[in-house]
Amino acid sequence: MTQQWIVPLEAGSEKTRQLLGGKGAGLAEMVRLGIPTLPGFIITTEAWKTHTPGSRSLLPDLWTHVRHALADLEKKTGKTFSSPANPLIVSVRSSPLTSMPGQLKTVLNLGLNDDVLDTLTRQEGDRGFARELLARLIQMYGEAVHGMPKGWLSGESKGRGREEAAERRQSGSGVVGPGSVPDDPVETFRKKTGEDFPLDPYVQLERSVAGVFDSWFGEKARQYRESQHIPCDQGTAVVVQQMAFGNVGSDSGSGVVFSRNPATGESGLYGEYLPHSQGEQVVAGDVTPGTLGDLADELPQVYEELRAVCARLEEEYRDVQDVEFTVERGKLWILQTRAGTRTPLAAVKVVVDMAQEGLISQSEAVGRVDASLIGQVFVPAFADSSGKGLVARGIQSSPGAATGKVVIDARQVEATVDRGLPVILVREETTADDAAIMPLVSGILTGRGGATSHAAVVARGLNKPCVVGCQAMTIDHEEGLVRFGDLGIEGGGHISIDGTTGEVFSGWREVVSPQFGEVEELHTLLSWADGMRRLRVLADVSVRAEIETVLEWGIEGVGLCRTERLYYDSAFLPIFQEAMLASSSAARIAALEKIGTLHREEFRALLRGAGGHPLTVRLLHAPLDHFLPERDALLTELTELRQLRTWNEEIGRKEELLQAVDAWRQLSPGCGLRGARLALAVPQIVEAQVEALFLAACDLADEHVPSNLAILIPFVSHSGEIECVLRLIRAVAQRTMEMSRVTISYRVGAAVETPRAASVAGELAKMVDFLCIDTDGLTEAAFCVSRDEGRRFLPSHAEEGVAAGDPFTSLDVEGVGTLVRWAVERARAGREGVEIGAYGNHCQDRRAVQLFDELGLDFLSCHPAHLLRARLMAGQIAGGV
Ligand code: ADP
Ligand code: MG
Repeated sequence: MTQQWIVPLEAGSEKTRQLLGGKGAGLAEMVRLGIPTLPGFIITTEAWKTHTPGSRSLLPDLWTHVRHALADLEKKTGKTFSSPANPLIVSVRSSPLTSMPGQLKTVLNLGLNDDVLDTLTRQEGDRGFARELLARLIQMYGEAVHGMPKGWLSGESKGRGREEAAERRQSGSGVVGPGSVPDDPVETFRKKTGEDFPLDPYVQLERSVAGVFDSWFGEKARQYRESQHIPCDQGTAVVVQQMAFGNVGSDSGSGVVFSRNPATGESGLYGEYLPHSQGEQVVAGDVTPGTLGDLADELPQVYEELRAVCARLEEEYRDVQDVEFTVERGKLWILQTRAGTRTPLAAVKVVVDMAQEGLISQSEAVGRVDASLIGQVFVPAFADSSGKGLVARGIQSSPGAATGKVVIDARQVEATVDRGLPVILVREETTADDAAIMPLVSGILTGRGGATSHAAVVARGLNKPCVVGCQAMTIDHEEGLVRFGDLGIEGGGHISIDGTTGEVFSGWREVVSPQFGEVEELHTLLSWADGMRRLRVLADVSVRAEIETVLEWGIEGVGLCRTERLYYDSAFLPIFQEAMLASSSAARIAALEKIGTLHREEFRALLRGAGGHPLTVRLLHAPLDHFLPERDALLTELTELRQLRTWNEEIGRKEELLQAVDAWRQLSPGCGLRGARLALAVPQIVEAQVEALFLAACDLADEHVPSNLAILIPFVSHSGEIECVLRLIRAVAQRTMEMSRVTISYRVGAAVETPRAASVAGELAKMVDFLCIDTDGLTEAAFCVSRDEGRRFLPSHAEEGVAAGDPFTSLDVEGVGTLVRWAVERARAGREGVEIGAYGNHCQDRRAVQLFDELGLDFLSCHPAHLLRARLMAGQIAGGV
């Protein structure tokens, strides 16, 4: 359908975005809204499909249509293309569906030839103006049609680093400023490309459109699409639009404005303006423009109009807008509008403000925020999120933004930090030797290595922003330079890295990093989500240090306290080993008593922290193998001792220990003696745990601190197991309460983590107060793969398309989900109204939470790091937003 090849701006709208691309649709919408835009037409994505990659001409039919559209544009503007009388000058702009900043081409100032240039010079009375237009046309045409690098015409981006940038900034010139235009750009073009620059505007136009079409296939564009999951066959539309000139005097200029601050979300315009410039200079980030304040001072009525336009656009799109504009002799022209990319912090503030301003509803606000990004609200981010100054991309390996001085030589880190200066450590790769200085730096950037390289692992441990595998970067140790293509940054120069996105920027950038209490809007948003959700959100908390944080983060209780966590503690482990490996029962009892004392103290702190909210304590779940001494190490020690032949007593002790270790060691601990089975085999451990728990609750009762206690029996598969463990719990609880003369009410539940438990959940439900579904455990059992082993091959299965994804990250709804469904249905059939919850890693997975909500579970319990995400997600799911 050929009529879909061309759409005049006034005939399009957001509804045909697929066809017009984002920029084209935005422009069409603005025409509809009566916002000042320049006339033009769109060559659609349908037309793009007719293009032969690499061809400099368009399909003849298409070209005929373009010429007709151009003739219409001439009528609308009263100007004539390629005519010296009243010349029409246009831009040819890429318009992909999803914004691909800086990846696709745009050519400005098309339609120049000698006669037209003479006219423009006469009109402006300024030879420099026409010369600048031509130079920028040739520059951009060279990039789009001949694949020339950025800045090729003036040779400017052969960066010698900072001085030059500073010089450029001072002179106020951009890619091609008046000061840097070669005397004869046409001649330079011929020399560098070996071809004549076409001084026929129609040739310029056809080739530029073909060049912009082709830029879709560029290597960088392809990589970007891959990283953003943009389909390759989407293509780009092209906007042909009359030019406005921002470089015709001091009452002209161009800029970019956000309708709200994209870093902090604050209301009010935020942006940049560069007087006497063509927009490309601001957008490309080659120069440092002034603030919008300059515009407000110099052209207040234009500023007011801009503010009104932004408000109108926000009202229409009901979202933050990122707007490009040009002022020509005091007249404002809007050139582009799109949803503004923003930091997670801004995303939250903006939707809450918008809901409070009545632009959107509260539930819409809840639905607008990407729950997976909510935790990142507290991760440092760059104040400027426009992507300007981007020099390379690497692999994001530890989130957060950092800015600082380039230090290549590890020995200089300390001296620089001592001077109070932030450092970005830049290395080909880091080694163990760098580990000592890494805690001192603000961020780490490496040229080699992946997400599990040394730098990445250490940086994550240190919670430092880190980008690795930045292949476009080379380090010139002789010159003390870091190079990104033609751009060089010296040691001591500024660089910025974003470990959340993998982006690397030249220069210094402002970093914002809020604290939890400071972000009132987040609390507001979460409270709206709380009002919508059906699932209660509890936290996994195992040690007292964590409970304060989760309380602050809106805890409704502890859904899972893993008692074994305490045993990994270095003070605790030897005592526990003593208890397990004791050769006499007296020794075992003594060791277990010590354990009881430690547990009691910890439980007291946890119960106090929970402050009357439920605290669900899971009995020891881990197989004892986890706590045994290393067999190999023991054997080596023993061999050495035997060689010395003197330490007989010690040898005897170690031999006994080795025997004990061998006796406890299991062939497949994951499927062996743990959870309820362990409670039956070594009841003394459970007794010690339960006794300590009740003693702690009694202690607190004495202080009038309420306890809301629950005990979870893990890893059950038979009702018989529950029966035995229940009997044990009840006896110890009774005994302890009688001894303390206090009555504590408590609940007992069972974990459903084996397929058998799922299938007999009805029977189990009759015996306990609640059931807790462990989808991680069910996944292991259903796939018959342990999480640790699975890590070695599941990710590659997902990549190769063998499986939809890693089932430990994203719940296998079809398989494991069915087990969950059975468990819930059967449990309810067994005992109506039985309380059912879920815990584990899947509580941060949307598909899983969706299922939990659909099945009407009562609660989920997740890792503290995912609490906010779970609260928001549960609200979104219940609200259907
Ligand atoms: P990108 O997609 O890279 O942002 P654009 O097509 O938006 O490329 O063009 C970059 C800049 O060039 C715009 O922000 C604007 O300032 C300037 N520009 C494009 N077309 C015109 C025009 N018709 N008149 C004036 N300036 C223009
Ligand atoms: Mg743009």
